[in-house]
Amino acid sequence: MNLDTEITYIPGVGPKRAALLNKELSIYSVEDLLTYFPYRHIDRSRFYTIREVNEEMPYIQLRGRIVRKEKIGEGRKQRLVAIFGDGTGFIELVWFKGLRYIEDKYRINQDYVVFGKPTRFGAKINIAHPEIDILTEANAKTVLGLQALYNTSEKMKSHYLNSAALRKLIYTAISKLQAPLPETLPESIIKKYNFVSRHTAIVHIHFPSNVKELERATQRLKFEELFYIQLSIFYQNRLREQKYKGYVFASIGEKFNGFYKNHLAFELTNAQKKVLREIRADMATGRQMNRLLQGDVGSGKTIVAFMSMLMAIDNGFQACLMAPTEILANQHFQSIGKMGEKIGLNVQLLTGSTKKKDRETLHAELMEGKINILIGTHALIEDTVVFQNLGLVIIDEQHRFGVAQRAKLWTKNVCPPHVLVMTATPIPRTLAMTVYGDLDVSVIDELPPGRKPIQTYQLYDNKRASLNRFIAKQVAAGRQIYLVYPLIQESENLDFKNLEDGYALLKETFPQFKISMVHGKMKPSEKDEEMRKFVEGTTQILVATTVIEVGVNVPNASVMIIESAERFGLSQLHQLRGRVGRGAEQSYCILMSSYKIGDDTRKRLEVMVNTTDGFEIAEADLKMRGPGDLDGTQQSGLPFDLKITNLSRDGEMLTFARRVAEEVIDADPRLEKSENKLLKQQLEHLRRQTVNWGVIS
Ligand code: ADP
Ligand code: MG
Repeated sequence: MNLDTEITYIPGVGPKRAALLNKELSIYSVEDLLTYFPYRHIDRSRFYTIREVNEEMPYIQLRGRIVRKEKIGEGRKQRLVAIFGDGTGFIELVWFKGLRYIEDKYRINQDYVVFGKPTRFGAKINIAHPEIDILTEANAKTVLGLQALYNTSEKMKSHYLNSAALRKLIYTAISKLQAPLPETLPESIIKKYNFVSRHTAIVHIHFPSNVKELERATQRLKFEELFYIQLSIFYQNRLREQKYKGYVFASIGEKFNGFYKNHLAFELTNAQKKVLREIRADMATGRQMNRLLQGDVGSGKTIVAFMSMLMAIDNGFQACLMAPTEILANQHFQSIGKMGEKIGLNVQLLTGSTKKKDRETLHAELMEGKINILIGTHALIEDTVVFQNLGLVIIDEQHRFGVAQRAKLWTKNVCPPHVLVMTATPIPRTLAMTVYGDLDVSVIDELPPGRKPIQTYQLYDNKRASLNRFIAKQVAAGRQIYLVYPLIQESENLDFKNLEDGYALLKETFPQFKISMVHGKMKPSEKDEEMRKFVEGTTQILVATTVIEVGVNVPNASVMIIESAERFGLSQLHQLRGRVGRGAEQSYCILMSSYKIGDDTRKRLEVMVNTTDGFEIAEADLKMRGPGDLDGTQQSGLPFDLKITNLSRDGEMLTFARRVAEEVIDADPRLEKSENKLLKQQLEHLRRQTVNWGVIS
């Protein structure tokens, strides 16, 4: 048996289990199985006696015999109870599922090792669905000691493919391996940092004899995982730098200076100035800029974007800005258009709803270089959009665009234009270094002066009357209000009903107020019309789904009410809250939730009440959700699987791995030296397995 062997051929697997492992865990080969790492280990080196067991104990292991077993109850409520004794007392083992199988499998008066979580059930303590083994010399290794626990699905469990079964399969696979696992790190790195071999690491992560072995195995595997991601990033970056020269924006010219001197409505914050200097430095070097601009909501990224565009324009180039939604593109068009007008720039808008005729004129003018700044949505990416001389691309709210889309904008000029990616989602440093490791990072870490911190409150639904009084008072004082309903998927009819009911109720409660409603099912033109009314102040309340999540800027709106706040993630809540606190008035964020919420949700809402710092919230979010939840949700940008690292906990290892990777690339940028042959092979291998970072090189 070797690493490529299909799992069907592992004794104890067979076609049925193989199909299950394929489908549920994407495990196809022996290698996949061996790199399916446990999520934690429990200590099964110790035996307890039944007399000392209490329900506070997390897990216990007992040695003894079943003296009696019986089925209790009828039909679906039936359960199997076995009385298990060890000479110091008796304890009940209980099963609610798979009764027939269990009843046949476990016999009276056979010596068993029982393992599970004791719980109190009325006056008695029992163990539900315990793990039971007959101890032999041969299986001691897979039963006793530090036991690896593996995630399995409900479906697998119902086919008796639980954590323990998986552990046995892994054990079998390892013992049948014809040769040790090949090494994947160069000798030099292993020696220098005193790592264990890959073979040892894999064996010990599944079957450690002691804590030390487990630790060393874990360190090695985490290092390896992070190191190769970083190595790949550095390698690609160097290649790219060699391949492409960046346009040189040598001078600060008339437009920039004219705007700065005569039209800037406020003093830039120090953070804005610092970032502009970083951008300026990048664009003057001849190296193509790839920069991520992080700035909390309301920190003033738009003006930075605009002034960066002026640098491009002053040097004879065009600039474009791409936003994730029409509303946002529109808004940028409004504000940038206004600023551009003052200094005689031609700023245009291109979205999905731009009419065909307008589009044709626009395309022509773009090619002739008559348009200085083009603002738009995904429509900008289309091949028909051709610039005369595009020098700078700005992408707003990056988390909604993928790497591939970013790459597409690169092809819009002979050389790739400079790229500035702006995001208001504060990304924890560790995540930024992996997901956006190919970007340099600038941070606006200061809000414009005079902002009052937003006050956040959590209210249960039974406090609706006082919420209504608050709404009335705020509107009477001239403020505007957002009221947001969850709509996780725009097509969920139930959510939609919530929104409509909420809207109807609000109209009934406040007949004297004007109310706008915006949701994803509306036509863009209707949506824009409703938005416009709110922006202009014609309506006082905007009832909406999360379509307003990003970017919308209405300084007079000072209250954000979030309905069913328990259904939002932290970063989404933070984004929504960022819609207020943009004017001079005291702003409020009210989180409405039902009384029945879980502990995690309670914690989430507490974080929101306790801090407005986006980075703190992002860290908390990463900690609470863990990296497993990252894919598929907010951070779906992760272009690779992390099998063992936890980005929220392994920050130090990441920094270390990054440093080592950088050292390697500094010494041998193209990995041509013979000692680095393995590294290069490994990169190729990984690149074939993951999303191709190479698309942008
Ligand atoms: P975001 O970073 O969320 O995109 P915006 O660029 O929309 O933030 O800016 C938020 C608000 O702050 C806007 O009304 C903008 O005009 C204002 N603003 C930006 N920079 C400053 C500054 N230095 N001083 C005062 N107000 C500013
Ligand atoms: Mg913005």
